[in-house]
Amino acid sequence: MQVRRGCGRGGFVSELEERVSSSIVDRLQAGPVLGAEGYVFELERRGYIKAGPFVPEVVLDYPDAVRELHREFLRAGADVMVALTYYAHREKLRDVGREGDLEAMNRQAVRLAREVADEGGALVAGNVCNTWAYDPDDPATGQTVRAMYAEQLGWAVDEGVDFVISETNDYLGEALIAVEVIRDLGLPAMVTLAPTQPDQTRDGYGYAEACRILAAEGAQVVGLNCDRGPSTMLPLVAAIRDAVDCAVAVQPVPYRTNAAAPTMETLRSADGERAFPIALDSFTCTRFEMAQFTLQSRELGVDYVGICCGAGPHHVRAMAEALGREVPASKYSPSMDLHPMFRADVKAKDAAFLHSWSA
Ligand SMILES: [Zn+2]
Repeated sequence: MQVRRGCGRGGFVSELEERVSSSIVDRLQAGPVLGAEGYVFELERRGYIKAGPFVPEVVLDYPDAVRELHREFLRAGADVMVALTYYAHREKLRDVGREGDLEAMNRQAVRLAREVADEGGALVAGNVCNTWAYDPDDPATGQTVRAMYAEQLGWAVDEGVDFVISETNDYLGEALIAVEVIRDLGLPAMVTLAPTQPDQTRDGYGYAEACRILAAEGAQVVGLNCDRGPSTMLPLVAAIRDAVDCAVAVQPVPYRTNAAAPTMETLRSADGERAFPIALDSFTCTRFEMAQFTLQSRELGVDYVGICCGAGPHHVRAMAEALGREVPASKYSPSMDLHPMFRADVKAKDAAFLHSWSA
């Protein structure tokens, strides 16, 4: 049995030991599971992934960069290491001339996630997403999608994943193909929809109805991820919670979306420029906003609370601490009472600066 490194408190270790080595379903029954995603955005920001194609070539080209981000999310309290196979499918790799690296990239992504997960008792999730190849009006595309998922997840199972996350699904039809493939592999499935439309999938199912169907077809966890920030995603959650008996997952982007711009794709700067995908910085939620989201989602009955594109480890740690956890990175959580200008006993020599700090 592995325990998370560097956590010094007995209570935390005991709680962790109960959760370690159990399946995602067992962990969800024992309490909330904290997810952390957004690897593609964060590694793009760090200079390892090209914006535009957003293919995770970093897995083969700079594996240490992937390990490091996994480790940062693990230290911040993430319970699941998601293998970076987002867009690592045949259609996307062809776009960047790396179709020949498909198998190596998928296998390596799972190995990196497993390696870091084992440092802290996290689960490893295989990962597939919307393919951009699916057309509900063309049944042949369903076979193409099925083949892509089957080959990606075949390698993932071979390398050893605990469950599979199928995410950013625009179409219920495409998500159902993922459920079938995952079910055939004998793994638990977490399937989340990308809520880019006001209230329904691109093939016309209300989000709650789509989640109900996904659960009925065998998904153990259903819900929403990506595209919307907390304030515009949370209003969709209650209906999903009411529609299903299984666990519900919600992983918003940490951006301040609003009624006029409910998704990150629709956010615009003051001069009207589109902010998505690489000028979203000024819309980023603070760690406090993500902590508040965590509590609000728990009140709505969300079981798998997470964060998507735009996430930083500081968000994840704040979310873990909102759940009452002390995690390895909590060692360096803020102590503003020790800040030279914010402490109660500001030194006389520094007090002269206070007026300029308050101006
Ligand atoms: Zn995302």
